Amino acid sequence: MEIPPRKETTRGPAETFTGEVWLDTIYHPEPPRRGRINAVRFTPGARSAWHRHALGQTLYVTEGVGIVQPRGEEAVEIRAGDIVEIPAGEVHWHGAAARHYMCHLSITELPEDGRPEIDWQDQVTDEEYREAAG
Ligand code: MN
Repeated sequence: MEIPPRKETTRGPAETFTGEVWLDTIYHPEPPRRGRINAVRFTPGARSAWHRHALGQTLYVTEGVGIVQPRGEEAVEIRAGDIVEIPAGEVHWHGAAARHYMCHLSITELPEDGRPEIDWQDQVTDEEYREAAG
């Protein structure tokens, strides 16, 4: 066994996140393993841009209250203990509720054929966020 050196917490880049988001890499193994797990901490009002995952994504909410929304559908409130299954190719965003922190584990896999795992799109506007957050 091994306890690997700790990696620094990194800030979610402004190109793909709105507000303050911090990422910790938990699982990022060498091939042939292709899984990826990050702990993602969103401050109130912070969220990802719209995006889709080549092979889908599972979220496990570990703290707080958040929001997830597939494009063209109603936003859903998520809370600690919730698991969210996002199908391959479904455009969506996730983030914190307006007045709560939210932390989730993000679980994805790299495609075998070398396609990118994630396809980033436009930011979630303040208007879209307000409507989703109620
Ligand atoms: Mn996602």
